Amino acid sequence: MIAEVIVDVAAYPIDRPFDYVVPIDWEHVMEPGLRVKVPFGPRKVAGYVTGIKGESQLDQNKIKPLAEIIDLEPVLSAELLALSKWLATETIAYEIDALQVMLPAAMRAKYEKIMTVIKPDELDESFRAFLGNRKQITLKALQDANLLNEVKKYNKLGIVEIDTAIKQKTKMKKVRMIHVPDTRQLEMALEEVHPNAKKQQELLRWLLQHPTETIEASKILDESGVTATVLKSLVDKEIVEQSQVEVYRELETPKMQDSGKPEQLTDEQQVALSAIEQSSDNNIQETFLLHGITGSGKTEVYLQAIDHVLKQGKEAIVLVPEIALTPQMTARFKGRFGELVAVLHSGLSAGEKYDEWRRIHRGEVKVAIGARSAVFAPFTNLGLLILDEEHETTYKQEESPRYHARDVAIWRAEYYQCPVILGSATPSLESYARASKGVYSLLTLSKRAKNQSLPSVEVVDMREELKVGNRSMFSVALAEGIRERLARKEQIVLLLNKRGFSSFVLCRDCGTVVECPNCDISLTYHRASESLKCHYCGHEERVPSECPECTSEHIRFFGTGTQKAQEELYKLVPEARVIRMDIDTTNTKGAHERLLYDFGEGKADILLGTQMIAKGLDFPRITLVGVLAADTSLHLADFRAAEKTFQLLTQVSGRAGRDQLPGEVVIQTYDPEHYAIELSKTQDFVPFYEMEMDRRRQLGYPPYYYVTVVQFSHEDVLKAADYAHKGTEFMAERLSQGTVIIGPTAAAISRLNNRYRYQCLIKYKREPALIPVLQQLLKHYKTSWAKDGLVMSINREPTSIF
Ligand code: ADP
Ligand code: ZN
Ligand code: ZN
Repeated sequence: MIAEVIVDVAAYPIDRPFDYVVPIDWEHVMEPGLRVKVPFGPRKVAGYVTGIKGESQLDQNKIKPLAEIIDLEPVLSAELLALSKWLATETIAYEIDALQVMLPAAMRAKYEKIMTVIKPDELDESFRAFLGNRKQITLKALQDANLLNEVKKYNKLGIVEIDTAIKQKTKMKKVRMIHVPDTRQLEMALEEVHPNAKKQQELLRWLLQHPTETIEASKILDESGVTATVLKSLVDKEIVEQSQVEVYRELETPKMQDSGKPEQLTDEQQVALSAIEQSSDNNIQETFLLHGITGSGKTEVYLQAIDHVLKQGKEAIVLVPEIALTPQMTARFKGRFGELVAVLHSGLSAGEKYDEWRRIHRGEVKVAIGARSAVFAPFTNLGLLILDEEHETTYKQEESPRYHARDVAIWRAEYYQCPVILGSATPSLESYARASKGVYSLLTLSKRAKNQSLPSVEVVDMREELKVGNRSMFSVALAEGIRERLARKEQIVLLLNKRGFSSFVLCRDCGTVVECPNCDISLTYHRASESLKCHYCGHEERVPSECPECTSEHIRFFGTGTQKAQEELYKLVPEARVIRMDIDTTNTKGAHERLLYDFGEGKADILLGTQMIAKGLDFPRITLVGVLAADTSLHLADFRAAEKTFQLLTQVSGRAGRDQLPGEVVIQTYDPEHYAIELSKTQDFVPFYEMEMDRRRQLGYPPYYYVTVVQFSHEDVLKAADYAHKGTEFMAERLSQGTVIIGPTAAAISRLNNRYRYQCLIKYKREPALIPVLQQLLKHYKTSWAKDGLVMSINREPTSIF
């Protein structure tokens, strides 16, 4: 028997299955989807069995045997194995990356599997003799003793249990976390570290082999074998960052609990639900675009649709864009489906994520709710997949494999012949266009579920405020609205639109903006440390006291952060209780939930925050929403700027007046005539859609065209440009006439971390040659250009970067 194995080595010539002989004793346990260890060159590496066959085409003597079996039961089903192949092809990624993206991080690391005996009496005599006094033993030891077949049998019968040896640190209150900024920084550090600092080199190499953003310090020490002093030296050198993260038990959130009972649906909801149920009953793949205004009861439709498929014995996946949605959302799902729900959110530790994954894998739960990667939840009888807020760009993964969760959801739905629901108050132009053409089925909820009216929206021209001498951040109308609400003991949400907006230091005399020495981008001001930081490469410096160009002293911080807004707010209404929610106040585990919970409990009058507060909040006492600077996101160098602004304004406005009390919205802007702002007044999506589609057509942007961006970066500007030209030419010669290639041009951020960046843009309506040509280009790059220091990336349908 021969196993085909994709090995855990991401490199071009290796991006294919390799043949290995299955030792005769393991033939009964061997299945596709198992993880194994195999000899590869001088090393032993982990890999995935993707296929099994009788014999190999290769010379039998040259094929090595498998070294070790990591799992007894497949971690990837036949469906997910097929999905990974499709994913690798569609996104031009390595197969190994496509396989690993489907599994929780804990399974990519090298954890040992342990067998625990549950019912010792039911073991065979010889097996019991082998174990002796041991209740637990590693799978490796069992394999060495040739006992895998027995173990597999016992496992099926529940006589033994097999588990990954991850220790849960539930009692610990604080955990020291290490953040690894990016692998390039590690590689650089590895080159620079003193040749005698062997232990530091060892740790750097270990970190490079275990790519992760955040990892517990204790785990690093346990697994890499270095001492705490070595780790500290990397922290001191600022190669990695360290922080203390509090570990919270699951919160009791009575206010956020769902009653558990289904609502009596409105007529519109009923029409939507019936269509979805019918498609489910007929076992056909159909994608629904559920376009419903904020508060129209989309979530209620999801809940009842899920209930329907659960009754058929099937499973459901619900994707939500980011943590902003989980506290309230999960409470509603748990209220309705109780223990059948697994939650996969980013606040979980690797071990907790693994636990949830395992509950799904074992079939203990029927509903998975989570962010993007939950689309790979290992169900085997899916009946429904839902993407809430389907327009959110976080559904696209911006690193390899660069997949969009919507495409994966539709692929899986095809496999199981079941419906997909894409829900939003402000659908992406792509999805709405597809619905208009009948590719998706459009379902509309045009009224709020409890028949509340939409909030009234007032747009305030901040230029006029300035003219009459109001220099504060708050217009007269908004200030008045805030005071009124405080007097009536109602709640207020204030959004500071920070998208595309940074707080930079500017010289008032010569206009110089302080930029990063490594990247062509302005440095961001950090008040707490009085320093300037680059968010791309980590460079940090003190705020200069005079302008580096003209030596003027009139150089200062320019911009509006949430901290500044909070200070101004206190000046305006000193008695108000304010909760501030931004990156700084939510970086500890559970902080996000806690702040929202407190606000829901009425412990504050005002919730002030960045776009993370725009979505999902459903609190009855919010009657005023203020947007402090609506137009900052209009100036992004991004063809989606208007769409993103309209979405944000509509979403945040939807937080007001969701219950009995009527809502009001005040939008402050310097650009009141812009159509994205003008049309958000009525929160009317369709007129906005038509207007924006017109513009996209004129400019030749998506959804009229598909877009792929190929980016080239190199430390040497000439080489970067040269390879960009070569690559562009390569594609131009091979792609069809109708395909437009723009560039190469310098990227929006033309230098990042001392690498010069060029890109070329491919626009096409139909291009059958695209994937093969990009694969050839990738091969070229991997086999020769990469050796010259070039880094190339291919991104289909990027969410921004223009
Ligand atoms: P959306 O997801 O579209 O923003 P939700 O599903 O959160 O809307 O519904 C908004 C509010 O209306 C929630 O408080 C929800 O409990 C309530 N609701 C939804 N459907 C109904 C219904 N048919 N009857 C009464 N209340 C409803
Ligand atoms: Zn100056
Ligand atoms: Zn930088």
